[in-house]
Amino acid sequence: EGGYRQAEAGTPSSDTLLINEQSRLLEAGGRRIHKLGFGQSPFPVFAPAVAALAEHAGEKAYLPVQGLAALREQVAAFHRATDETAWEAQRVVVGPGSKLLLFALMKSLPEADILIPAPAWVSYAPQARLAGQRAVRLEADFESRWQVTAEQLDACCRDAPERLKVLILNAPGNPTGLSPDAESQQRLAEVARRHGVLVLADEIYAMLDHAGAHRAFARDYPEGTVTTSGLSKWCGAGGWRLGVMHVPAALGDELFQRLIGLASETWSSVTSPVQYAAITAYTLSSALTAYVARQRMILAELGEACANRLSAAGVRVHAPDGGFYLFPDFGAFRESLARRGITTSAELTRRLLDEAGVALLPGSAFGCRPHQLTARLAYVDFDGAALLDGEGAVLDHP
Ligand code: PLP
Repeated sequence: EGGYRQAEAGTPSSDTLLINEQSRLLEAGGRRIHKLGFGQSPFPVFAPAVAALAEHAGEKAYLPVQGLAALREQVAAFHRATDETAWEAQRVVVGPGSKLLLFALMKSLPEADILIPAPAWVSYAPQARLAGQRAVRLEADFESRWQVTAEQLDACCRDAPERLKVLILNAPGNPTGLSPDAESQQRLAEVARRHGVLVLADEIYAMLDHAGAHRAFARDYPEGTVTTSGLSKWCGAGGWRLGVMHVPAALGDELFQRLIGLASETWSSVTSPVQYAAITAYTLSSALTAYVARQRMILAELGEACANRLSAAGVRVHAPDGGFYLFPDFGAFRESLARRGITTSAELTRRLLDEAGVALLPGSAFGCRPHQLTARLAYVDFDGAALLDGEGAVLDHP
């Protein structure tokens, strides 16, 4: 069967928690742990946004459910300029993190098959189930650069064609760090259009595309793509909990009104001072451009260096396109690892932590089969503030 099993989805987050907890314990015991497991931006929040937050700390009113109009205008203009898309302010929803917006959308849809690539971010499949939807796994492999192909989508759409299909795409990807090339994306968009697939494009890492070359899915399929983003990654403000979603007008009012209804009956509105501060974060200025460009440069240099060193050691890995993750495949060492009792990615990451003090997350946490020897490496174990303020090459930095 194509669906994720309950047990499969239960294990991942516990593996993740286990590694993080174990890292903390080992560190408390005095060991130096290379924390490459937890995926949080290492950079400080954009300073003018911090100042704006302080300035608006006294704002206490509930704001409109959909989000402050001035913020939605700014967000739409920001995305039109940076993604070359047609975001409209009246179709933007501001929510407490893009994570909850993704769930709210799945919950607002009629019965659907939610097509989730494997590997993919840990929360999609559990969210689909919580929303009462059917999660369907679309397996990708190293050779396809961990991307779902147009042929796969086409085959999947021929199965139970009467049911709405929703494809979740995440580029640059967590855990892979990869984006599809323009041609593959266009072919995927063509198939999606032909079958009336709703695409949920999670583009939370888009601004951190290392080359500044992110291609929004909505450019290739504007009428059927719901896009999410927010302040968590490029603005370093994960804990501020501000996410944004664009639902194109072509998808009609019914879905949009259900989404706003759900927001109204649950989170009401995002914290007022944070929304005012977000207006500053979403105002394209030379300071903002420089802040993002420096992050990209640092991440590009570190990502490439990590990928090169892994490759030189015989580990298969693709150099990342963006964000701050690599997804190495240790399959070349299967036999020697098996001799040491390591046959699953969960065992591999446990032993790496115990024996080498390196914390990675197992590929199984992201939907890979347990015996696939993959892992996620987050190259964010550095002092982001110091590097951001510095100049020149990152690897020469003390
Ligand atoms: N999507 C992906 C792929 C993520 O990695 C994350 C955060 O870890 C999120 C969504 C959630 O982001 P937010 O902080 O906007 O809820």
